Amino acid sequence: MHQILNFVDGRFVTPIEGRFLDNYGPRDGTVIGQLPDSSAADIDAAVKAARRAFPAWEGLTRGERARYLYRIADLIESRLEVFAEAESLDQGKPIHLARSVDIPRAIENFRFFAGAVLHQEEKAFQTSANVINYSRRQAVGVAGLISPWNLPLYLLTWKVAPALATGNTVVAKPSELTSFTASLLAEVIAEAGLPEGVCNFVYGLGSKAGDALVAHPDVPLISFTGGTETAAAIGKRAAPLYKKLSLELGGKNPALIFADCDFETALAATVRSSFTNQGEICLCTSRIFVEESLFERFKGAFVAAVKTLRVGDPRHEDSFMGALVSAAHREKVNGFVTRAREEGLALLCGGGVPELPSELKGGYYYNPTVLLAPDTNSEIMQQEVFGPVVTLTPFRDYDDAITKANSTRYGLAATIWTQNLDTAHRAAADVDAGLVWVNTWMLRDLRTPFGGMKDSGVGREGGNYSLDYYTEEKNICLQLSKPNS
Ligand code: NDP
Repeated sequence: MHQILNFVDGRFVTPIEGRFLDNYGPRDGTVIGQLPDSSAADIDAAVKAARRAFPAWEGLTRGERARYLYRIADLIESRLEVFAEAESLDQGKPIHLARSVDIPRAIENFRFFAGAVLHQEEKAFQTSANVINYSRRQAVGVAGLISPWNLPLYLLTWKVAPALATGNTVVAKPSELTSFTASLLAEVIAEAGLPEGVCNFVYGLGSKAGDALVAHPDVPLISFTGGTETAAAIGKRAAPLYKKLSLELGGKNPALIFADCDFETALAATVRSSFTNQGEICLCTSRIFVEESLFERFKGAFVAAVKTLRVGDPRHEDSFMGALVSAAHREKVNGFVTRAREEGLALLCGGGVPELPSELKGGYYYNPTVLLAPDTNSEIMQQEVFGPVVTLTPFRDYDDAITKANSTRYGLAATIWTQNLDTAHRAAADVDAGLVWVNTWMLRDLRTPFGGMKDSGVGREGGNYSLDYYTEEKNICLQLSKPNS
């Protein structure tokens, strides 16, 4: 049993009201630990500590702050296996995925932003011979960071690292469902010797601790990754307080598979983009559109490949998919599939719970599921499922493909599969998505703009976009004395 404590002002403390929540392990549904059920008072204590720490932290040089970040990265790396085990136990993802993707990326987030801040450029404008404008970027203050459960450490550190590198202090509220690796990060941060109060973690419910963080008057910046509906509630709270707000939200990501694609590459990558991490990545493909002339061939090969995916114990190296994050989430996913079938969509494979050994019976497993969707009107073609469920739909021609791809409120990511350069460029421009991959998926360069169009988000993160977001840019206009005066 892992007991998580809040990390406030450099100390591990019990929540002020003394309440804890049970943490369920997706692998077998047993209680694996407890976490604080924090209240507004815990948030307030953390914000006060972060405010006290702010002037000294902001006053360090970039190089001094970067050195802390490098130290944090090294410490996580030195216990990679411990972090990977915790992430898999807490989230339900296969251990090999946590070991090869989640934790290395968290390490990289710290190293990347430590380096990035050292190379950040500032601007100067020579207005006339004796007038110079220059802009300086300064930290905003206490950054409120709210992260989801699907890539817990990966997405939390994607916020913590740039916020700290640019001189802000932090109060973070990880998802109540997956706070384990955040608590290990707090231990690393304490060990790295980060000054007290610079980085605080307060755990608990979004509606309580999360809401208190968003509403706190001394938190001028909120970076949120999570669901589109939650973001609307956060926006309502934050807007009257004129907070800086970054919103990375849900998606309904299309794959456009043209007849001239490299078939085997498109097939293998689309299986991966649909079901990696149980489909619980905001960038996962959820709607697959295939050109009519290729449709039957692709459908047959895709369904056959999906049937071979192994769902099983997240601890086993050969499990491609582990368990979904919670019982409630599995119910939600199954509800979508049930209603889709009631609407008349054909189930091509999956649906329901796989046969598993008795020790895993209490876990939250779900079969990789493929549905045939003749058009884009059904609920499952419009709503985010965020699980191992995809639809297959044929398209007639280029225009039909784009119309279908753009037929939702979302605009996060898309993949395009074609060997034709013109089609690739045209589709990349025409598809409503902040992130477009052509003939690949989830290949990331951390300098690039990351974020969604339409209801998938507001703002961009990554590289200079994050450095800009976590700072206020101030313009200074300087009149120099005239040479002879
Ligand atoms: P939620 O929106 O339910 O929660 C995200 C975070 O917000 C959690 O920490 C949650 O806490 C907290 N929260 C919930 N309600 C409030 C509130 N009223 N005020 C402040 N904080 C609150 O999302 P999920 O955790 O379910 O994550 C899945 C969603 O995240 C999907 O829609 C997915 O697409 C999206 N996502 C987007 C990404 C992107 O980069 N665009 C990346 C990854 C995921 P608690 O858990 O305790 O409720």
